[in-house]
Amino acid sequence: MPGRFFLTTPIYYVNDAPHLGTAYSTVNGDALARWHRLIGDETWLLTGTDEHGLKNARAAEQQGLTPQEWVDRTSSRYVDSWAALEVSNDDFIRTTEPRHHLSVQRFMQAIHDNGYMHKGLYEGWYCVSCEAYYPEPDLIEGRLCPVHERPVEWLTEENWFFELSRFEQPLLEWYDGHPDAIFPDSRRNEALGIIKGGLQDISITRTSIDWGVRVPWDEAHVFYVWYDALVNYITAIGYGEDENRFSKWWPAVHHLLGKDIIRFHCVWWPAMCLAAGVEPPAHYIVHGWLLVSGEKMSKTRLNQIDPVDLGAVIGVDALRYHLVREVALGADGDFTYEGLVARYNSDLANNLGNLLARVATVVGSKCGGIGPAPRPAAPGVRLSEIAAEVIAECRDAWARFAGHEALEATWRLVHAANAELEATEPWKLPAGPQADAALGDALEALRIVAMLISPVMPGAAGELWSRIGLTGHPDEPGAAGEHGSLEWGVYPGGLTVVKGAALFPRRTSES
Ligand SMILES: [Zn+2]
Repeated sequence: MPGRFFLTTPIYYVNDAPHLGTAYSTVNGDALARWHRLIGDETWLLTGTDEHGLKNARAAEQQGLTPQEWVDRTSSRYVDSWAALEVSNDDFIRTTEPRHHLSVQRFMQAIHDNGYMHKGLYEGWYCVSCEAYYPEPDLIEGRLCPVHERPVEWLTEENWFFELSRFEQPLLEWYDGHPDAIFPDSRRNEALGIIKGGLQDISITRTSIDWGVRVPWDEAHVFYVWYDALVNYITAIGYGEDENRFSKWWPAVHHLLGKDIIRFHCVWWPAMCLAAGVEPPAHYIVHGWLLVSGEKMSKTRLNQIDPVDLGAVIGVDALRYHLVREVALGADGDFTYEGLVARYNSDLANNLGNLLARVATVVGSKCGGIGPAPRPAAPGVRLSEIAAEVIAECRDAWARFAGHEALEATWRLVHAANAELEATEPWKLPAGPQADAALGDALEALRIVAMLISPVMPGAAGELWSRIGLTGHPDEPGAAGEHGSLEWGVYPGGLTVVKGAALFPRRTSES
């Protein structure tokens, strides 16, 4: 039965350029959203940019721009990158938009009115790059930011505090009642560990900076960038503005995030929701770090790779395939260019690309280029049996956020289709029913593969779809029409099959 699926990526801090780490989050989120659209779920994919804070104000100053001019430029890099990587977001939220300011003010006012804010003096070690205070024991050698390994500054200011300390028990109770809220389990334990370790009130406003959302009950203050940013997830679905829309998508959200922002998302954010009288988000999918040859990708280090440049070299589909296939969502992964090329050549060029080329060639020689229909699903029609298993495994894998397993299963069908061709050798058979059966089954396997890969490789899936003579796109239910069904026996036969250029030309690591 079709359901509903709302997925958010983190919103990215605009001072940082899009890199492989943010592409990793966004592409995996996009693949999940595309899968849910494919199976008929009403789906909403949200991404965007986080644009306030001291770092942006300082960067704008250095450039001789207003902060707004600066973030307009830097935000557009994300819009352009995600478009280039075929990300199908339904909305792109910017925290400098009026809708977001209004929503943050409403949400924070509710927390204030509910009695969970007080004014106090705050001082501590502050990392400008993180826009965060650190307790002294967390600093490296007592003076360096644990993330940036650069000196922190001692700041003192009068702030509004959110009374997070009152939410230890409510959060533990909430998580107790929602045992599946955080995927994977190890991250749930980490979040519970933070809560059980004791929560302190947190300083939530600044007077030292102007570039932020104004505190509605005390206009000398703006909200600290992290807190305003979290609210984007409800701004975008009409919090305080459109109750019907809001309750349609909330709280059944899936927040996709990296493991380094668990504290913000799985502790602060649900506590703020409880304080504001909003149900906490129902699901978190926490992914690991993508390492580049063993080192964590970082905004202040130089090992950034522009994902759009990489996509231009290897192909957008190939890059997306690697980002979903290489690492189980939740685990850490190591990214190497050599690994990307090796997997591309074996899975895409040799297996899937070859299957299509082979089928199209033999359809050309034995059937005059017109693809025959498959045999009906039956015991003994091997590909129909394997396809049914693979489709079921894909459904199960995506439901567990295991896109890599779905692709692995899909490639079992690709391998099986190649193996069947080798077993039946239709190129040696005379034109006629036996050759037609072998080729029709292979074409039906290709149709199903096109659908199963479409969440990850929308471009290649569409190309495969049209090469076997189908119209529309495999992931557009309307356009794919009667042929867009995840069941055996739908390929109609009688369609023109086109061989064309290699779907995935072989690559070398030098290119
Ligand atoms: Zn830092």
